[in-house]
Amino acid sequence: MNFILKTLFKKTLFNMNSDQLVIALTKGRILDEVLPLFGQAGIVPAEDISKSRKLIFDTNRENVKLMVIRGSDVPTYVEFGSADMGVVGKDLLLEYGDEGFYEPLDLKIAACQMMTAGPVNAKPVEGRLKVATKFTNIAKKYFAKQGRQIDLIKLNGALELAPLMGLADAIVDIVDTGKTLKANGLEPRELIAQISSRIIVNKASMKIKNALIREILGQLGDAVDKK
Ligand code: AMP
Repeated sequence: MNFILKTLFKKTLFNMNSDQLVIALTKGRILDEVLPLFGQAGIVPAEDISKSRKLIFDTNRENVKLMVIRGSDVPTYVEFGSADMGVVGKDLLLEYGDEGFYEPLDLKIAACQMMTAGPVNAKPVEGRLKVATKFTNIAKKYFAKQGRQIDLIKLNGALELAPLMGLADAIVDIVDTGKTLKANGLEPRELIAQISSRIIVNKASMKIKNALIREILGQLGDAVDKK
């Protein structure tokens, strides 16, 4: 999106009420670890998020609302100021690009690794490597740094199938226990990045709502330290 459009979006959509804070949370496995941490930091949803189809929730704090959305949408909401803060995996930040917001806190939850992986005992590939991934920006950057020429194949899920079915020589994916790789005849190879969930903050919100954001960052930081 061009600069003028971005500025316009920020000016028109940005919630200028400095007393209200909207925090975008990633739904799914991250949420299960984030909510206890938020609870320790004194922010508790007014209802059970897992039992509701709503996407935005009041909390015990009158001035704090929680949105629950896909992780890949969290950076967009925060960059454009529709959410002031967000919780999102570092994998998605590396893929999205991390210049559009601040990243002040590592929550040290949902830890895993971004890795390359390939078939167990496969012979090294000479020439161009066929790499399947949904993290195309991360893969491009990583192999360019290695000076390795690749053909990139974009997939949206079940990446482990690609080498099995002869679509790719290797994949770039998230590895936690390594069980998914193993179950599909693959093994982890190179570590690209350590991943965990991070707090991101809209740049304008950080100025306009500084006191409230600092307070919440402090409380979350204390909760992380106590873990
Ligand atoms: P594992 O079999 O434990 O290595 O888990 C691997 C799969 O679980 C990956 O393909 C990911 O899709 C998913 N996964 C594991 N940990 C995370 C995480 N922290 N964030 C997002 N996805 C994850």
